[in-house]
Amino acid sequence: MTTKIPFTFKYDFEYNKLEQLTPLIRRVTARNPSGFTFQGTGTYVIGHGDVAVIDPGPMIDEHIEALKESLKGEKITHILITHTHMDHSPAAEPLKAYWATPTYAYGPHGAGRIEQGVPVEEGGDMDFKPDVRIKNGDIIQGKNWTIECVYTPGHTSNHMCFALKEENALFTGDHVMGWSTSVIGPPDGNMTEYMESLQVLLDRDEDIYWPTHGTCIKDVKNYIQSFINHRLEREQQILDCLDEGFSMIKDMVPVMYTETDPAMYGAAARSVFAAMLRMLDTGKISCDGTPSLTGEYRLVL
Ligand SMILES: [Zn+2]
Repeated sequence: MTTKIPFTFKYDFEYNKLEQLTPLIRRVTARNPSGFTFQGTGTYVIGHGDVAVIDPGPMIDEHIEALKESLKGEKITHILITHTHMDHSPAAEPLKAYWATPTYAYGPHGAGRIEQGVPVEEGGDMDFKPDVRIKNGDIIQGKNWTIECVYTPGHTSNHMCFALKEENALFTGDHVMGWSTSVIGPPDGNMTEYMESLQVLLDRDEDIYWPTHGTCIKDVKNYIQSFINHRLEREQQILDCLDEGFSMIKDMVPVMYTETDPAMYGAAARSVFAAMLRMLDTGKISCDGTPSLTGEYRLVL
């Protein structure tokens, strides 16, 4: 690999504490650290008095209590959801009940895929149904804050980013994170859409990103470009493997992921599969029969 993604692992925070980050942005971090969530889910609070919350987080009592306690005397008027993974949307329900607040999201889990007739696997928050379904370009106006909805499918088919106009900032959910690349898990995750959604961000003018996990990202254009380069280099590695006569994903993974612990080969294989689905879309490769993790692939010459 030649592209080095400039990840940041520094994250100053304290669990269950509402911390002021900028004039309009505060954040509480939930205690759900893991290999997918970094130190935990960062629930953002926008504005003062009448506030919006972005990604309420997982159903963890102390996290929900911390939000209620630290927002005493204020009111959550909008609950915005970037996407419906279990570490993002479940806590919407108790907050909604407490403040009688409507929830805003692109749709339920799998919304962007079900519309195309593709069944979506379990693993998301299947109970979540937004009160208000939002689309790309929608504006949500609060008290002293303005949010533009930016549809960014890829990590999930219902993923939304939220632009805070007053600070020229973008809440990027799990689409772009500072500490890791995003997991693209087919069929709900889709590499073709993910790459298009990276381009959507590249074409915009926000100065700073606030992902749901980890700290903010500043040099945003270079950061996005390094993600795009990284994925294109993976595609080139796949083409090289096919050229050398490897036709199955299980044989390519040890060649491509020389620095990865073999225990992680399963995740690596799913990532290669996601990349290959995009390469099928772009006509660079073909597959005998229905594409799958165990399928046989070949170069299109
Ligand atoms: Zn996610």
